[in-house]
Amino acid sequence: MKLIYEKSSPGRPGVQMSSIKISPTEVIPAKYLRSKPAELPEVSEAEVVRHFTALSRLNFSVDTHFYPLGSCTMKYNPKACEAAANLPALTDIHPLWPQLRGGGLLTQGSLGILYNTERLLSEITGLDEFTLQPMAGAHGELTGVMIMAAYHKDRGNTQKDHIIIPDSAHGTNPASAQLAGYNVVTIPSDAKGMIDFDLFKAALNERTAGVMMTCPNTLGVFETRIQEICDAVHEVDGLMYYDGANFNAIMGRYRPGDMGFDICHLNLHKSFATPHGGGGPGAGPVGVVEKLRPYLPISRVVKTNDGTFTLNYDAPKSIGYIAPFYGNFGVIVRAYAYLISLGREGLLGTSNRAVLNANYLQEKLRPLFGAEYKGRCMHEFVFSGQCLAKHGLHTLDLAKGMIDRGIHPPTVYFPLNVPEAIMVEPTETEDRDTLDNFVKVMEELMDLAKTDPDALHHAPVTTPVGRLDEVKAARDMRLSYT
Ligand SMILES: *Cc1c(COP(=O)(O)O)cnc(C)c1O
Repeated sequence: MKLIYEKSSPGRPGVQMSSIKISPTEVIPAKYLRSKPAELPEVSEAEVVRHFTALSRLNFSVDTHFYPLGSCTMKYNPKACEAAANLPALTDIHPLWPQLRGGGLLTQGSLGILYNTERLLSEITGLDEFTLQPMAGAHGELTGVMIMAAYHKDRGNTQKDHIIIPDSAHGTNPASAQLAGYNVVTIPSDAKGMIDFDLFKAALNERTAGVMMTCPNTLGVFETRIQEICDAVHEVDGLMYYDGANFNAIMGRYRPGDMGFDICHLNLHKSFATPHGGGGPGAGPVGVVEKLRPYLPISRVVKTNDGTFTLNYDAPKSIGYIAPFYGNFGVIVRAYAYLISLGREGLLGTSNRAVLNANYLQEKLRPLFGAEYKGRCMHEFVFSGQCLAKHGLHTLDLAKGMIDRGIHPPTVYFPLNVPEAIMVEPTETEDRDTLDNFVKVMEELMDLAKTDPDALHHAPVTTPVGRLDEVKAARDMRLSYT
């Protein structure tokens, strides 16, 4: 096959490709070329800018508002990481370019970024090897469970048919396990918000393929019996899966690999500098212990003896391709920039602040709501809006009231095991003034619930469409903002 890029791609200013010239007819068959110019809308630059700026203002965003959306880690992401991902030398390359050309180092830099990011993630998780290919947390989970299945198949563990998951897990955990062909055994949480240890022991047997744990879990609680759980699971040749989407609570402090976990995914779009939400690209890299290395997806970036990087496809036991090329490269570049700019101390400071901010808010809000779980939380906490019932109100009304006061509502009605749940994650990037303002707003809203509950029934009143008719919104998406 003749490689198009050898003589195409004019490149943007800033990329050294002066010797490369392109003529469309050389690379695109004539029958696919336009015969007349495309009919593009004729608008001025100012009109375009106003249009998109107006659209962006219809949204809440981390750049404009406090966004304490529990479980989702809507933290502020440094613009420097964005700038790194936007460097033309990184955005103008193509994955089909040769890794080496004529002694040149065409994509060595980007392969080096992939290689180094894998090493850094190994270092902070304590796992031996990483793949950067999965494109979301859930995709990482599926990859991890497929690796689990490949391991058991290889070992002749044919009796393994189920995975144990606590009921506090993110809904993607059971979905991933099912998709990879396993039954799911759900274990309820105990009064402290941890996996019920006795029920877990009763469910564990030779047919257990593995256990998926989130720690700190989705209730913001740190599971304290991890060691015993790991030991018991390894005894039946099961594997321990660590859902690391909450990694901003622990990074720099402890490592899943050291605790006995075998597989772990991270959400680069939560913990490592890519904005989360809005359906944008994500990345859910998966780390494994040495014995699972052969099952990782292909290709793998490897460093050769002469120090150059190349892609290795020679992995007969691999689960194969799980994504085209090497994952969402831009997301990985942001994470790399974030990791090397923070360093070890910076990462530790980040998780310290995430936990401090959450505990500060939890204690400030406890007088208003109580809190589901009595102890200290990690990076997020859950409380219940059941106390609003006596005013004829629900958690939803409280959430809508926050919108009028310039705050994106926290996650509500999740986790499912807390009635009228409100789940707050302030994140490490908010300062004390912002947190205090949030407390003030919550106090105001609780007063309003007592004195004028109907006002909350009608909130929000400051947005273009007011209280959304959710059924109509799902069925009829044509809203006009006049
Ligand atoms: C967000 C999250 C996931 C899923 O990540 P996606 O990128 O949304 O697929 C999994 N587990 C936990 C604990 C999460 O918070």
